Amino acid sequence: MQKIGLPWPEVISKVAPKPISLEEIKAWRTREAAAGRPSSYEDFCRVYGLCLTCLGEGVTHNNDGVGFKVVGMEGNTRLFEQCPVCGGTGKAPTS
Ligand SMILES: [Zn+2]
Repeated sequence: MQKIGLPWPEVISKVAPKPISLEEIKAWRTREAAAGRPSSYEDFCRVYGLCLTCLGEGVTHNNDGVGFKVVGMEGNTRLFEQCPVCGGTGKAPTS
């Protein structure tokens, strides 16, 4: 597992696109909540097979949950830490 961070464009190139659009995610959550089922973003990730550690983003969140962890700089470019669980794909590991 590599420890060096990635610039944002590379993060984006590695992470899998969301299975459904943001609007659909909102609709899903509203529907599940109305039905009395778990409806958090984490629940959405579980149902759709996204990585629960990074919530499908492919990079590690900051400890306070706001934004993503920056592990270094390359010139003026911030480098982000790839999620160690899914390896930056944002998909739940299949094992
Ligand atoms: Zn992950």
